[in-house]
Amino acid sequence: MLVQQNLKLLKTEIPEHVTLVAVSKTKPISDIREAFDAGQKIFGENKVQEMVNKYEALPKSIQWHMIGHLQRNKVKYMAHFVDLIHGVDSLKTLKEIDKQAKKHNRTINCLLQARIAKEETKFGLTFDKIEQIISSDDFKSLKNIKIIGLMGMSTFTDDENQIAAEFKSLKVFFDKLKSDHLSTPNFELSTLSMGMSGDFQIAIANGSNMIRVGSKIFGARNYIV
Ligand SMILES: *Cc1c(COP(=O)(O)O)cnc(C)c1O
Repeated sequence: MLVQQNLKLLKTEIPEHVTLVAVSKTKPISDIREAFDAGQKIFGENKVQEMVNKYEALPKSIQWHMIGHLQRNKVKYMAHFVDLIHGVDSLKTLKEIDKQAKKHNRTINCLLQARIAKEETKFGLTFDKIEQIISSDDFKSLKNIKIIGLMGMSTFTDDENQIAAEFKSLKVFFDKLKSDHLSTPNFELSTLSMGMSGDFQIAIANGSNMIRVGSKIFGARNYIV
């Protein structure tokens, strides 16, 4: 019941145009089923094996998002079903996703992860690097992936001004890319994935239209992942 109550409350804080990804990493099937029964259809996981296990155990109408850092050798295990990959941070990874998607005769939607946090530990591409990738001939030749947006994580800090500035910087870059780069079959920006349990309101105020929320729905996780 708690999951459904949390979800209901959360929904009242999210505007219509913002897509909610319920981050279910480390949480049991029963919790996901509870959220699913309450109408939630999109779930996010950060480990490929865990996502595959849950995909196999749950209704096929669920859309699974991979939100964690990707290991290239794991892409093949989810290529037949993953709906959106948020954390793509190299051309090499994009090529692997393309290759695996092709085997299943499908196109896999991806977000490029931008580094907006000041922390050294956060993954992601610089804005320059993103422009370099999408301008390259290598990228243009990939037919079985589609970049539909960008993803970013803010610095872990209490300073809301800093968090807002980081999200804002990605929104400005997102808008610039949209106007600078013509849409092609494998590049058409619509999605800006920013915001988690602690900062989704700041993210939405600064242009996010997809938030990834875990603990606020499912409760605190027992261990750091
Ligand atoms: C775990 C995780 C989330 C959700 O975190 P919460 O603080 O529990 O909402 C969002 N995005 C990514 C990339 C994550 O790994």
